[in-house]
Amino acid sequence: MSHEGIRFVSADQAAKEATMEKRLPLEAVTPAKVRIHKTEGTGVEIDWKDGHRSTWNFVWLRNACPCATCHEDREQSGRKPGEAKPKPQSLLPMYEAPARPLEITPVGKYAVKFKWSDGHESGIYSWEYLRRVCQCGTCTGTT
Ligand SMILES: [Zn+2]
Ligand SMILES: [Zn+2]
Repeated sequence: MSHEGIRFVSADQAAKEATMEKRLPLEAVTPAKVRIHKTEGTGVEIDWKDGHRSTWNFVWLRNACPCATCHEDREQSGRKPGEAKPKPQSLLPMYEAPARPLEITPVGKYAVKFKWSDGHESGIYSWEYLRRVCQCGTCTGTT
């Protein structure tokens, strides 16, 4: 028996693609409170106006950089936002310090920009983008 021709699209992938097309209500993409734990180095927490709460760690956010270069890079390797790059095959595994932001700059009222410890700083993280990549159990369908 052959499984050729069957496309394996997981239900949650399909659901995610459907949500990407949906316009989110304004309260869902407007932060009521933003906490960026730069000193602690943990990550970002947002309480949204619709009562939802999202948290991301900095490494995740670095891997979810929305700039065109990172976006294309992810598309090409089939990674989701936040997914780490596969480590290059090497006999001597190198230690890579986890990404952390050196500077955090608000961009107007709609976004925030990070200058990362690896020197990258072209990604503008809009509130809408962040809400769409919320990692809570409800949004990722894991609870
Ligand atoms: Zn980028
Ligand atoms: Zn969520």
